[in-house]
Amino acid sequence: MLVKLTEFFRNLPGKQCAECGKEIEEQHECYGNTCNSCMNVQDL
Ligand SMILES: [Zn+2]
Repeated sequence: MLVKLTEFFRNLPGKQCAECGKEIEEQHECYGNTCNSCMNVQDL
């Protein structure tokens, strides 16, 4: 079951950035709904 859960998350469709609407690829869950670019902007 745990293996299937991992596969489930791996197969999840790309998220969409809440800031620019760009599709997010392989994001850590801690990043939430924003892409790296928007995250960098927020860090500034
Ligand atoms: Zn973005």
